[in-house]
Amino acid sequence: MTATIELRNPRTGQSDGTILPTTVDELTDAAQRLRTSQPAWSALGVDGRADALRRWKDACNVRRESIIAALANDTGRMRESIQEFEAFVGSIERWASLAPKLLAENRRFTSTLGFIDIDKNFRPYQLAGIISPWNFPLILSTIDMLPAVMAGSAVLLKPSEVTPRFVSPLRDALNEVPELASVFEIVLGNGTVGAQMIPLVDLVCFTGSVPTGRKVGAAAAAQFIPAFLELGGKDPAIVLAGADLDHASNALLWGATSNAGQACQSIERIYVEASVHDEFVELLSRKAARIGLCYPTYDRPGLGPIIAERQIQTIENQLADALDKGAVIQTGSSEVEHHGGGAWVRVTVLTAMTHDMDMMREETFGPFLPVMAFSDVDQAVKLANDSPFGLSAAVFAASSDEAEAVARRLDVGAVSVNDATLTALVWEGEKHSFKSSGLGGSRMGPASLFRFLRSQALLIKTDPSVHDPWWYPAEEPRR
Ligand code: NAD
Repeated sequence: MTATIELRNPRTGQSDGTILPTTVDELTDAAQRLRTSQPAWSALGVDGRADALRRWKDACNVRRESIIAALANDTGRMRESIQEFEAFVGSIERWASLAPKLLAENRRFTSTLGFIDIDKNFRPYQLAGIISPWNFPLILSTIDMLPAVMAGSAVLLKPSEVTPRFVSPLRDALNEVPELASVFEIVLGNGTVGAQMIPLVDLVCFTGSVPTGRKVGAAAAAQFIPAFLELGGKDPAIVLAGADLDHASNALLWGATSNAGQACQSIERIYVEASVHDEFVELLSRKAARIGLCYPTYDRPGLGPIIAERQIQTIENQLADALDKGAVIQTGSSEVEHHGGGAWVRVTVLTAMTHDMDMMREETFGPFLPVMAFSDVDQAVKLANDSPFGLSAAVFAASSDEAEAVARRLDVGAVSVNDATLTALVWEGEKHSFKSSGLGGSRMGPASLFRFLRSQALLIKTDPSVHDPWWYPAEEPRR
């Protein structure tokens, strides 16, 4: 018998529900149902699919309060849950309007031979598997799902077992759009269920940690299917002496602490030119100290709790390691704080950091701003690139040109120039992750849609007067 999974409420630390993991037989049946329905979904055409998506958006808007409440229970934060919901419905509209335009673009052209036209026929992968993490449960479950269904694929989704409460109201909304419900199923469970999904799908989109990403990539390779892996980050920020320090400190506070630092694109380390290091740290610490905890009630401004229980230990270990090795806390928490049963960390600014500390090398996923001084740009670039991760970064300088010149030297998929974490706001910025932050085509912007389409070339002979080109094997020698 399948064991139930307890749901821990991040604000209380108490279990407030359970989920029953989907069994292999149920998974197999779901995959079969989705495959049966996919041709009709594809045949609806992109405008018909956009229409279905918009009706789902309307049904979600009707359930706005219950979806947001479920997300808040999942994550222990309210303001971000509202933002997450708004971003989700916004992204439905975005894909419903953009995909028809992208697919309508004329892809027919005449080959160099003149009498052969080439038409690109886009054929969707029939069934996409999507596996998502807990830090933005709704957005990261649908960021790949929306372009996949707009491309004409069916989708089997497994969200994180840590934050599955939002699934129930989302499914209620889905059931109001039967044609979409026939090609989009959500299954529940932990990594075992995730691993069992992979042999059943034609393509996998995985968002999560590097260790799990490696397993998913290996399983997909064994299946010989594409894997799009969006993994962890240890995003650096570089602040050059001429930068507007007031602006840089505001932007970095936001970039490092929104969602209490539980975001893949969080700024996790800051390198500041030595001549302005002290001034910057003073400014940053003063501002950081003003941000409190969203406790005891949701209406308090401030950071939410640590969402996943397993993250608490990682943070404890990294903090202890940094303090052991000489880090100095300018403001914030010297250990994970426990309030009301939940685990909380204040915005924490640290100095005297070195690269032998885990906090400068491993993903922390908490509201920490560790700061190091550098003496010249070459050293800053070297430190920023000294990481196994390559998701994104930020550079601040006196001018865009100066910042851009540094940005182009960073081994990351996206760089915010004179701001931080702009990838969270601008979806058009197509990017490829570097190093162990992932692989596969960009999930941002138009490229995201084409990950779900195979392009088939139709080579159409247009001039019947052209016979027997010289390369055809002739049955008889020509005269
Ligand atoms: P995780 O790797 O532990 O789990 C992610 C998902 O994979 C979960 O749904 C889990 O059940 C499933 N899973 C676990 N083992 C599996 C297996 N063997 N086969 C298939 N699926 C399996 O990650 P997490 O702790 O949920 O999420 C945090 C991580 O996600 C962080 O590293 C963060 O940086 C990363 N993340 C990346 C992005 C991005 O876009 N690059 C976005 C958000 C989070």
